[in-house]
Amino acid sequence: MRVILATRNLGKLREFEALTRDQSPSLPIQWLALNDFPSLPELAEPGPTFRANALGKAEQVVNATGIAALADDSGLMVDALNGLPGINSARFAGVPKNDQRNNEKLIRLLKGIPLERRTARFVCVLALVLPDGQKFTTEGFCEGLIAEEMCGQGGFGYDPLFFLPGYGQTFAELSQMLKNAISHRAVAMEKMRFLLQVLLFPEPEPLRRPNF
Ligand code: IMP
Repeated sequence: MRVILATRNLGKLREFEALTRDQSPSLPIQWLALNDFPSLPELAEPGPTFRANALGKAEQVVNATGIAALADDSGLMVDALNGLPGINSARFAGVPKNDQRNNEKLIRLLKGIPLERRTARFVCVLALVLPDGQKFTTEGFCEGLIAEEMCGQGGFGYDPLFFLPGYGQTFAELSQMLKNAISHRAVAMEKMRFLLQVLLFPEPEPLRRPNF
């Protein structure tokens, strides 16, 4: 079974390979990426939601190739900003995307807001579209607070501002392994693994349900 991951990021490709290969039961999926289809145009993100973006990207790939495709969209939603930066997380402070400037803008917009009102969540939506037109999505959330200043060197994007009260650290301070276990992306991927197993490889292995 072949599935195209709608990304040019080979790190993401390896993550999905590991997800489907290394857990039991191993799912025999041959993962391809956009780099394997150089003639495909840049994928549009139709919006206005994470789900619409992920579905839109997967549909564009299936329509162009006739092969099953999986796409993702993710970002940060801050309650005090009515859900911003949302689907514009990557380019919150303008184009070209710049994590440092995005974080500085967030600090500026939340200046003076007390910690208890700085609630936020990371969101990840994964969309799977099959060649026969069937569409499936999974979501993952990770709840936290936006710190007043950046803390930690790890991760990327808004990680230095995303504080997890349960761990007393930002995402950028957590080990990569711990972040990968609890993140919005991890939750959405675990659910997608279950879907891929049910849809593409029904039985005879007993189903392994996710722990939530
Ligand atoms: P995408 O590539 O369109 O999904 O945009 C994702 C953007 O959301 C990234 O550029 C980051 O700004 C932000 N983002 C998503 N997931 C994370 C995360 O795990 N840590 C930090 N920032 C994230």
